[in-house]
Amino acid sequence: QQLSNDFQFIDVGRQDPAKKNAQRRVQEFAEIYEPFRPQEAASQAHRCLHCGNPYCEWKCPVHNYIPNWLQLVSEGNILEAAELSHRTNSLPEVCGRVCPQDRLCEGDCTLNDGFGAVTIGSVEKYITDTAFAMGWRPDMSGVEPTGKRVAIIGAGPSGIGCADILVRNGVSPVVYDRYPEIGGLLTFGIPEFKLEKHVMKRRRSVLEEMGVEFRLNTEIGRDIQFDDLLEEYDAVFMGMGTYKYMEGGFPGEQLPGVHKALDFLIANVNHTLGFEADPADYVSMEGQRVVVLGGGDTAMDCNRTSIRQHAKNVTCAYRRDEANMPGSRREVANAREEGVEFLFNRQPIAIVGDDRVEGVKLVRTRMGEPDEHGRRRAEVVPGSEEVIACDAVVIAFGFQASPADWFDPSSISVDERGRVTAPEHGEFFFQTSNKKVFAGGDMVRGSDLVVTAVYEGRQAAQGILDYLNV
Ligand code: FAD
Ligand code: SF4
Repeated sequence: QQLSNDFQFIDVGRQDPAKKNAQRRVQEFAEIYEPFRPQEAASQAHRCLHCGNPYCEWKCPVHNYIPNWLQLVSEGNILEAAELSHRTNSLPEVCGRVCPQDRLCEGDCTLNDGFGAVTIGSVEKYITDTAFAMGWRPDMSGVEPTGKRVAIIGAGPSGIGCADILVRNGVSPVVYDRYPEIGGLLTFGIPEFKLEKHVMKRRRSVLEEMGVEFRLNTEIGRDIQFDDLLEEYDAVFMGMGTYKYMEGGFPGEQLPGVHKALDFLIANVNHTLGFEADPADYVSMEGQRVVVLGGGDTAMDCNRTSIRQHAKNVTCAYRRDEANMPGSRREVANAREEGVEFLFNRQPIAIVGDDRVEGVKLVRTRMGEPDEHGRRRAEVVPGSEEVIACDAVVIAFGFQASPADWFDPSSISVDERGRVTAPEHGEFFFQTSNKKVFAGGDMVRGSDLVVTAVYEGRQAAQGILDYLNV
């Protein structure tokens, strides 16, 4: 039913989907937001002003047709909205859940000017979840097979974005991943309170129905050689992510009780999903005083995972102030509601303890001039050392690019930071120095976002189609 109030944004305020209360949230590994009801989604979507120049679309890395699908939702046309949203995004149900909308689409919504941005992410999630529940599947009826085959290394968002575009253009993608399930960090990284795992399982069956083949538990370079892929396929896409842990470089990092963020999170996922090879891999924070070092999305995930594992208390120490945190504001607020304590302007200089962790030595900082990314530097305040007592430390300083050891540098060049060189605007989008090989996602731009990985995978697929001349 069509809503018809051009001033909906005045009469109806921004309303996020209902959020479970924090006491309940901390007892389970489950998403914390309830789905929108149809009337709520329609009424929130109808708040869109349809500005002549939609900044939200420009700011969205995949340039979603946001006002157009908001209009379709406000009219109740969910299936059309799903078709349209899949024209630009291969994982809209995931981006709707995990994008930091406050600094992307919603951050640039005109209604931020006092009225509250349209709930773009939640509507995007609602469209795909609802359409799938109604039986909608991408329309593949007009696809003509080309007889071409492309190997994709990595079933993360970049590999999925690439496979989606290739299969819709009649090219058969075969996706290899060393893990037992698709999703990359969406499955083995981002915890269930942000993204429940059934979402990726559903996407896997949709992609398989479309003609994408997954060969899981298969590591390229170990189980199959890269050169064999080059020989067997018409082109290769690499979306292998970046997994090299960034060390703090201070004393005490090797003490028992100090954990790397991703190892801790993956062990938790493997434990809850039953993929655990050895029960000893699981790290339990039950009853412990935990300090998480870092201020990005990974740090927030470690904080909130520790809380759900019934840590005695969780403190997050970050070297800048709250305004200069790299993570999503929404996730910081969620962590705080769940009981995480934040210590801002604290920089770790050592982890202390004899046989295992007993505390973290921190110094205070103050904010200095902006760095090359525009974020203000943290300057140490002399003589401000303090030790925070704890039983466990999780280090979440991010990841460095890590080209696989089977890379042949004479064939695939990497930059001085270890990122694969694959320029968006080369001869073909995202082609590497080996003309048959394309790459995208975290292994090209460094650790970033789901939506940018999807974008690069899709663009690389377009590069491959042009290269194959199909
Ligand atoms: P990945 O997702 O890392 O996928 C790479 C895949 O390649 C993996 O499945 C890996 O197994 C496979 N692979 C690697 N080498 C081989 C090989 N030799 N053979 C076979 N397979 C191989 N982004 C957001 O937008 N929002 C968030 O809230 C968010 N939270 C995050 C939380 C955590 C804890 C982490 C670590 C990251 C988070 N990110 C978030 C970032 C986001 O997950 C990544 O930017 C994104 O997943 C990168 O996609 P990708 O396809 O490049 O790589
Ligand atoms: Fe916003 Fe991300 Fe969706 Fe783009 S993909 S509209 S940035 S939530």
